[in-house]
Amino acid sequence: MTPIEVDVAIVGAGPVGLAAAIEARLAGLSVGVIEPRSFPIDKACGEGLMPGAVDALARLGIHPPGIPIAGFRYTDAIRSAEHRFAGGSGLGVRRTALHDALAARADELGVTRVDTRVSDVVQNAGGVTVGDVRASWLFACDGLHSTVRRLSGLERPPRARVDRRRFGLRKHYTIEPWTDLVEVHWVADAEAYVTPLAGGLVGVAVLGPPRTDFDEVLGRIPELNARLRDAGAEEGLRGAGPLRQRSSARSVGRVLLLGDASGYVDALTGEGIRVGLAHARAAVESIVGQPARQAKAYDREWSRVSRDFRVITSGLLAAAQSPLRPLIVPAARAMPALFGAAVERLAR
Ligand SMILES: Cc1cc2nc3c(=O)[nH]c(=O)nc-3n(C[C@H](O)[C@H](O)[C@H](O)COP(=O)(O)OP(=O)(O)OC[C@H]3O[C@@H](n4cnc5c(N)ncnc54)[C@H](O)[C@@H]3O)c2cc1C
Repeated sequence: MTPIEVDVAIVGAGPVGLAAAIEARLAGLSVGVIEPRSFPIDKACGEGLMPGAVDALARLGIHPPGIPIAGFRYTDAIRSAEHRFAGGSGLGVRRTALHDALAARADELGVTRVDTRVSDVVQNAGGVTVGDVRASWLFACDGLHSTVRRLSGLERPPRARVDRRRFGLRKHYTIEPWTDLVEVHWVADAEAYVTPLAGGLVGVAVLGPPRTDFDEVLGRIPELNARLRDAGAEEGLRGAGPLRQRSSARSVGRVLLLGDASGYVDALTGEGIRVGLAHARAAVESIVGQPARQAKAYDREWSRVSRDFRVITSGLLAAAQSPLRPLIVPAARAMPALFGAAVERLAR
């Protein structure tokens, strides 16, 4: 293959990689996106975009099809608490529909696609080489189990006592959505997220410990079980995890980590895409900024745009994995202002 020279090489064409490619093209940079999977790419995901993610996509000229989401409802079969977003709506979007919309915009802007899996990264003062692609900058957007994070020496091992392994599973059901909220059903050791995605289509994501059985969890939620019992399951089960991933830093030289590749807490707050889109913007702004501040500027901005997600999700996860777990839904119901404030912070 003829070597390709670009300003930015992006490893991974998930939502964050494609958004970063679009940001970079809009900033006038040449871009190559390296991805071995064929488009549209699917992934286990709750498929709920927060209002902030909808706004960030619109800024890039992307308007995916979906169902407006008005807020969140937490329920434990006895009680429930809900909060409706004070500002704009979120959006339930089937993952492949989101990917189609991002890929179409990237194509329109002239992003080059390279169909391969990255297995080595060579960096020197002038740039970075990945396979046949030579670039001034490399953005690692290769997800939870990032190869680039590992090859660049930025992998940080999990903390045995703190990072209990959790996984996510997702299935689609052909049934008319019955709510305009993301429903989060809490059971003893797992949560089931219900997201309206399209007319006649609802997504259910289950988060739980290793070996969580999707159908067994649904069987323990009478309200959901009754609704889905006669619905068609549209396709097989998809899984992802372990969810908790750590990085020791967000950049090294000319390599920047974005999205899940930069570290991930949990899907409990349905935040990954909004935060990853903010990383994409910060990464491009940092490399077109003052040369002396580039990588440091990204590290600082990454911390700023990730802070609410990391603090709120870590706090909720710690409570969810402690004896306080049964109190989460009652507390959300008893303290609506606090529950609403947390949802609003994550929605931005
Ligand atoms: C069960 C579950 C529910 C979730 N619910 C929500 C939700 O409701 N809302 C929300 O905003 N977020 C949610 N998330 C999080 C969200 O899915 C992620 O944050 C998001 O997909 C991150 O995007 P990304 O582009 O960083 O990574 P990914 O989407 O994982 O994309 C990474 C890409 O990199 C490619 N790749 C990997 N290795 C290589 C390599 N060596 N070379 C080249 N390419 C490579 C992969 O093929 C893939 O296409 C959920 C996550 C889970 C697991």
